[in-house]
Amino acid sequence: CGIVGALGNHEVAPLLLDSLKRLEYRGYDSAGIATVNAGRLDRRRAVGKLVHLSDLLVHDPLPGKAGIGHTRWATHGAATTGNAHPHRSGPVAVVHNGIIENFRDLRAELAEAGLMPESETDTETVALLTRLHMDRGLPPREAARATLARLHGAFALLFLFEGEDDLLIAARKGSPLAIGHGHGEMFVGSDAIALAPLTDRITYLEEGDYAFITRAGAEIYDAEGRPANREILQIDLGQ
Ligand code: GLU
Repeated sequence: CGIVGALGNHEVAPLLLDSLKRLEYRGYDSAGIATVNAGRLDRRRAVGKLVHLSDLLVHDPLPGKAGIGHTRWATHGAATTGNAHPHRSGPVAVVHNGIIENFRDLRAELAEAGLMPESETDTETVALLTRLHMDRGLPPREAARATLARLHGAFALLFLFEGEDDLLIAARKGSPLAIGHGHGEMFVGSDAIALAPLTDRITYLEEGDYAFITRAGAEIYDAEGRPANREILQIDLGQ
């Protein structure tokens, strides 16, 4: 339902929580964040209000300057901690808005490769498939690209990888995503309003676009995989 991401110069967990709060008005049943800290990927998830997630983080902090976050509005699988995003398999974590229509076919294929889901969600197949591509030797960018080529449905996705504290991969197909440009920091939100206190310089991904985001900027490709030039807009989002 709500997606946020950050490659920051400071701890990102508080910032991700704040951005998720700005998306609360959309409604949600659970929430979670993942970060990479000194190369190590970790996550925290909680059912119910964001305050449950922030309480959890007080007792069990999640350090790191790179991260992704999500508020979930369940479509596939009950509103449980295990179904909350981010979904992780091995070296990759993903947050997702929308629906992966062909997740049952993908699940069958993944099962044949020995990768079984831990959740009831359509989303987890994205993490599992990306992990499979990485197990077979593809680096993160190529693995995500190969995964995206297999997905049917309307969705927005954000990927975070173990060992990569300067990389987010974003993809838009039927569900909006905005990239925020900071000073040596980069942000992502399913709605630019999530990024209002962080930056007013926004690039909207167009339909079918995907982006490799580092602190140096965003490399954007169109649905055919061609480099795409997308404007940076100066936007008045208020505070
Ligand atoms: N289909 C996904 C799920 O049920 C994502 C739902 C959402 O957009 O929040 O977990």
